[in-house]
Amino acid sequence: MDDACIFCRIASGAIPATLLYADEQVVAFPDVNPQAPTHVLVIPRRHLPRLSALPGSDPLWNRLLAAVQAVAESLPLAGGFRLVVNQGGDGGQTVEHLHLHVLGGRQMTWPPG
Ligand code: 5GP
Ligand code: ZN
Repeated sequence: MDDACIFCRIASGAIPATLLYADEQVVAFPDVNPQAPTHVLVIPRRHLPRLSALPGSDPLWNRLLAAVQAVAESLPLAGGFRLVVNQGGDGGQTVEHLHLHVLGGRQMTWPPG
């Protein structure tokens, strides 16, 4: 828990949020500035500043992806969705707590901006 981290504070309940999914390790909540009709953030409760801080072999990845699937099934995303992780400055990361963006509810375009 990093008291200065907004996502740690959401995960701990210090900042109230509508949790769309929650288990012992992962929570999901709507993005405050949605870029699509559905824009959900899936995060580990553990403070990890970015994707590269979590080894690929860590079982927490399975938990995060399982949560993405649970969220996707609970929302009107039958037409598809996009899963995004921004890493570092060039990646466009602005919040230093690992988060997976689930975007959908409209036709997504490629290439991304
Ligand atoms: P990044 O640019 O780091 O990949 O994404 C950070 C995301 O967090 C942005 O889409 C931004 O709108 C969202 N965000 C930033 N602060 C808050 C907050 O306090 N609450 C919620 N729900 N989302 C936030
Ligand atoms: Zn954090």
